[in-house]
Amino acid sequence: MTNKTLVVASGNLHKVVEISRIMQPLGFEIKSLKDFPTAPDVIESGATFEENALLKANSLAKHLSLPVVADDSGIEIDALNSMPGVLSARWAGSKKDDLANLNLVLEQLADVGANRRTARFICVAAWSDGLGNEITARGVWPGTVAFASAGTNGFGYDPIFVPEGQEQSIAQLSPEFKDEHSHRARAFLKLVAELKQKLT
Ligand code: IMP
Repeated sequence: MTNKTLVVASGNLHKVVEISRIMQPLGFEIKSLKDFPTAPDVIESGATFEENALLKANSLAKHLSLPVVADDSGIEIDALNSMPGVLSARWAGSKKDDLANLNLVLEQLADVGANRRTARFICVAAWSDGLGNEITARGVWPGTVAFASAGTNGFGYDPIFVPEGQEQSIAQLSPEFKDEHSHRARAFLKLVAELKQKLT
């Protein structure tokens, strides 16, 4: 393990690949939680995306004695008073069922007209060295909630979210388009810029 090792606190391969590509300019050797199978599961008990992302980054960095990047993300829907927010993964229950979550949102917005269906994906990326140094960066991807699910790409709420400037859901758009414009890409690009300054 070199002193330029950075751990991406996710076991989700898609997320690890996306984040690794963005972090590459910093020259880190990137590891993921797959490389540390005994790392503890961190409960996302925070009230904000920032709290949850820092909770994950700090506790894993301390446990592994390595710098860690983590993220927390979700969707805020204006007609639902900015919910589901940090509850996005568990909106229809603790099973974290993407389809049930998305169907519940469609049902809750059934009587909400086109001009009141505004929403945004949020991602907060956090970096911690486990020694008290930490950074967070927020990425926002605005759009609207569609009236019906469409498309098969992506995960979570992708089939019902139409990004600003587009006419199709994220699940109908290409993965490359999502990688370039997403809340996650925006958050991690900001994090890289701040980390560059901190480490030079
Ligand atoms: P987490 O950041 O992995 O805890 O994800 C929280 C939840 O937010 C996911 O389970 C999804 O329901 C939702 N979410 C976060 N990012 C996305 C995305 O890029 N597309 C669709 N849903 C997302």
